Amino acid sequence: MRDKKELVQNLKNSGYLKSQKVVKAFMEIPREGFIPKESRDYAYADQPLPIGHGQTISAPHMVAMMTELLEPEPGDRVLEVGGGSGYQAAILSKLVKKVYSIEVDPELVSFAKANLRRVGIRNVEMILGDGSEGYPKEKPYDKIIVTCATPKIFDSWINQLKTEGILLAPVGRGFYQELIKIRKTKKGLEKRNHGGCAFVPLRR
Ligand code: SAH
Repeated sequence: MRDKKELVQNLKNSGYLKSQKVVKAFMEIPREGFIPKESRDYAYADQPLPIGHGQTISAPHMVAMMTELLEPEPGDRVLEVGGGSGYQAAILSKLVKKVYSIEVDPELVSFAKANLRRVGIRNVEMILGDGSEGYPKEKPYDKIIVTCATPKIFDSWINQLKTEGILLAPVGRGFYQELIKIRKTKKGLEKRNHGGCAFVPLRR
């Protein structure tokens, strides 16, 4: 098994990990704690891995890139759409105040909850539901991160985002999508394309 230090060093060398605080979060969270037994030997290879139900835990470089692009701040309340294994939420939990993570598959909600509990994380709330509606109960959010491929940016996400907030989402209908970052300003939405990516699709 390639170890965590080596993976983190590679992610720094290739420019995916940029800030010291995100490096620290990666060192603190054991990725093997979010992967089913069968694939655990590959926990520190830079690749997505199956977590059951046709879903995957994203590759570490994608988690690193998205975490950096989200510009996490200690006071932030973040909404994640697509909780999956809970790994992305766990990384964010070390960088922000609170993460609300919504996941549509009940068995994955249980899987993620168990993983987070085992690793000792208390500031992530896993919620069962359809994240295309966002999670109005705890709005507004400083940041929203979508980790399943979405055909479009839903109005619910923009509406539940604070002014000056950031939304990050893989947008596209095919196998590949584009990673779109939106900043909600007083004057409107600032959009930037951060290149190609491949996520499992949003289901409703
Ligand atoms: N962030 C996760 C990986 C997510 S994989 C991790 O760190 O492991 C994408 C996840 O999005 C899958 O678990 C899938 O079940 C979930 N998903 C798909 N459609 C959804 C929807 N409408 N609302 C919430 N979650 C959804």
